[in-house]
Amino acid sequence: MVADGADSGLREGLGVAASEKSYRQHALICNVATAEPHAGCAFERFTDEGPLALLPLLPAAGAQHRSALVWTLPPERAAQLLECPQDAFLSALQQRFGYRLGRLQQVGTRHAYPLTLRHCDEQVRAGIAVMGNAAHALHPVAGQGFNLALRDIWALCDVLAAGVARGQSPGDLAVLQQYRARQQADQRRTIEFSDRLPALFMHNDPMLALARDLALSGLDWVAPLKRAFVAQAAGLQALEAAHD
Ligand SMILES: Cc1cc2nc3c(=O)[nH]c(=O)nc-3n(C[C@H](O)[C@H](O)[C@H](O)COP(=O)(O)OP(=O)(O)OC[C@H]3O[C@@H](n4cnc5c(N)ncnc54)[C@H](O)[C@@H]3O)c2cc1C
Repeated sequence: MVADGADSGLREGLGVAASEKSYRQHALICNVATAEPHAGCAFERFTDEGPLALLPLLPAAGAQHRSALVWTLPPERAAQLLECPQDAFLSALQQRFGYRLGRLQQVGTRHAYPLTLRHCDEQVRAGIAVMGNAAHALHPVAGQGFNLALRDIWALCDVLAAGVARGQSPGDLAVLQQYRARQQADQRRTIEFSDRLPALFMHNDPMLALARDLALSGLDWVAPLKRAFVAQAAGLQALEAAHD
């Protein structure tokens, strides 16, 4: 199995091609200590610079309430926030995030990296399966990459077990192609979902913004629509499809 991450050297060594699309945005990531507990909740804010998320972390020495920040920004703004003093950083973040977790108190080491969508069409060869970020590295905004990787692994295990039960070798290309066929639609849907979500919030057209805001309000009013959106975001549709 080839699963050495988005910059997979093994994939490259095998000559497996990956298509790339730059989002021309950077993700600034760091841990943040907050005055109020997160109660196990993740928070996401969609801003005109890009989405930002605070994801719950376990307590650590000196920081009882901690979250991991993923802040999507234009590259020059990310560079500025990477270098600025802690107070200026916390104040900028507080302004964008608000006070849902109380006052933001401390920030850990900040890192930033360019955001790119990578995906390979060829994911199996005889004896080889390219998996996880090596096969598809997504925009982190929708928090889909790891979930998709787990669904891929589940499907692969299922297909391998069925193949072995039929007396086939687990590395048999025909068996591995069944895995690829089974996961293709889930991968396509998940990639499209996480690719379109950031674009939805980052344009200056007031009519598009109005349509988006109405659609999001509609999610609150129409329970089945909201359930469908949450099911897609949580990967539940794909799991249900696998059980059908
Ligand atoms: C900021 C951020 C937030 C995210 N939030 C979410 C989320 O909320 N939900 C979600 O589902 N997904 C999320 N993701 C996506 C998730 O992190 C990835 O989808 C997941 O880490 C992919 O796992 P992976 O094992 O394929 O790759 P990686 O996590 O990159 O792991 C690859 C591993 O391979 C190792 N390695 C490299 N070369 C070799 C080698 N030659 N031999 C052996 N090992 C090697 C590396 O050391 C590394 O440990 C997020 C991603 C980011 C960047």
